Amino acid sequence: MSTEDERPSGPRLRPVLDTLRHFEPSVAPCETGPVHLLGSNESPYDPPAEIVAAVAEAALRLNRYPDYGGQRLVSTLSRMHAVSEDRIVVGAGSVALLQMLFQSVGEPGAEVMYAWRSFELYPVLADLAGVHSVRVPLTDGGHDLRTMAELMGDRTRMIIVCNPNNPTGTVVGSAELEEFMLRLPPDVLVVLDEAYFEYVRDPNVVSGLVLHRRWPNLVVMRTFSKAYGLAGVRVGYLVGDPVVTRRLRRACLAYSLNTVAQAAAVTALELHDRLFDRVEETVMERTRVREALVASGLTVADSQANFLWLPLGEESALFGRRCAEDGIAVRVFPNEGVRVSIGDPSDNEAFMAVCKHWRDRSTAGA
Ligand SMILES: *Cc1c(COP(=O)(O)O)cnc(C)c1O
Repeated sequence: MSTEDERPSGPRLRPVLDTLRHFEPSVAPCETGPVHLLGSNESPYDPPAEIVAAVAEAALRLNRYPDYGGQRLVSTLSRMHAVSEDRIVVGAGSVALLQMLFQSVGEPGAEVMYAWRSFELYPVLADLAGVHSVRVPLTDGGHDLRTMAELMGDRTRMIIVCNPNNPTGTVVGSAELEEFMLRLPPDVLVVLDEAYFEYVRDPNVVSGLVLHRRWPNLVVMRTFSKAYGLAGVRVGYLVGDPVVTRRLRRACLAYSLNTVAQAAAVTALELHDRLFDRVEETVMERTRVREALVASGLTVADSQANFLWLPLGEESALFGRRCAEDGIAVRVFPNEGVRVSIGDPSDNEAFMAVCKHWRDRSTAGA
């Protein structure tokens, strides 16, 4: 370990690597009893047998390099979304696509703007790409697009809108987004991170899969990690105007989308209806859990994603420890809040029980 004023010994690497904030993955609490993994917004469901079989079959070709550019996946996505293939870029998770975007805009002096708090990897990838981050505070847990448009300057190269926002679950409506796009110069790239879009039920939200046709400077990112339940294989995709995608494709790390991941993703698209029944179950559970928490006296934002946000402020860490005692992993943002994923009904029951006791404790101790 080294502090900032102490030069680490060993080979000379970029100083940013000593100051970069660490991404800390959510870990399972050390428990002997049942464990409920509600810290990473994963799908709680096991992969369908068809996907496991496709992965096993793909393993027979592991001596060969993967299909370059994921052609089969691209053409399946193209048919599904009625989008031409040249508008689609696939990658090893949306995080890999994000890194490619940061590198693609990362000239000296470039700035990237995003709301804060939002996805924890945005600042990490910005720092790594040598891009300055401009963070615009959320208002009532949602994007403040007016302020973002006002703060935009000559150096702004990219603006990320996480919709729904991780960790608050709030959404940007289409009218608001439209107004925002009209204020931007066409050389600023807008990235809609729609990692949770499949869980949105608010009719005021229009997907980037519609908007990219109208705005050549807008790209939308989707992932197989959440609704499709494939966080472990790492597949994501980006859709945008060919003027952008043609150049972005050159920034992709060759062969990073592996054979197994491609097979899993193509099969998941074939099983779309079945997987989306699970998404519907999660959406129903989200309503059920939120209503129970609100009834327990907790403040819970109205979420359009597969998680809920509890703005617990200074009590966040303590609440996280209570959850861990009951074998529940949640995501704690110290002094801000706690994000909890919607799991299967038994995970959710366990979490609701903690919340109920938490309320009782507060009223008893008051
Ligand atoms: C989970 C998540 C992703 C998904 O990343 P992958 O690399 O595709 O697993 C992207 N953006 C946000 C905001 C997320 O929460």
